[in-house]
Amino acid sequence: MLDRRHVLAMLGTTALATLAPTALFAAASIKPDDASALLVIDVQNCFLPGGSLAVKEGEQVVPVINRIAKAFSNVVMTQDWHTPGHVSFASVHSGKKPFETIDLPYGKQVLWPDHCVQGTDGAALSKDLSVPHAELIIRKGFHKDVDSYSAFLEADGKTSTGLAGYLKGRKIKRVFVAGLATDFCVAWTALDARKAGFEVYVVEDACRGIDTQGSLAKAWTDMAKAGVKRIQSGDIAASA
Ligand SMILES: [Zn+2]
Repeated sequence: MLDRRHVLAMLGTTALATLAPTALFAAASIKPDDASALLVIDVQNCFLPGGSLAVKEGEQVVPVINRIAKAFSNVVMTQDWHTPGHVSFASVHSGKKPFETIDLPYGKQVLWPDHCVQGTDGAALSKDLSVPHAELIIRKGFHKDVDSYSAFLEADGKTSTGLAGYLKGRKIKRVFVAGLATDFCVAWTALDARKAGFEVYVVEDACRGIDTQGSLAKAWTDMAKAGVKRIQSGDIAASA
């Protein structure tokens, strides 16, 4: 077997540049420390197969999250947690269908099927998650007239969930974001984490997207511009 050093020695620089970086630098190089936290976003039944707003392949994030969570001494989970008749539900806007957009006082809002209603089975975290050391579960979207994709700020852009204060109080400097869905709650969380001054990594293979009207590509572009680092679960060293 050739090891990486031999492969590197055999290849010229031109050939090297044509290879995907992951092919050569797959060794787990990021070691979460006590100033790092994993944020597990909305791994709830409604977003999993069989749920009312199922994200394609959403269940595939669960074993990846269970594995990488072992490397973190700090894990925070979120739950989308809506009132019945929440403003983000298409069902409360006459003549509107899911995935259409409307204008609300705080801006554009995508309308969704009813999902994650407080206290329902659909709002429960997946029973397949195995992260017993998760230290905080933060609920969001519980104000009837305001949505909250982000774990940090509601969709009005000013109402805090308190998460930034919690993380800063615990001296966290780096956050790693995983879960559902890449182009909504994961991306908005990552972008707000940058605004709050954290170093931010999104673990791509620990997320899945909804991808409506080009939202997935736009989310990655916005995150790159904001300095969010896009990594894979294999980049994270196995233990803390
Ligand atoms: Zn929601």
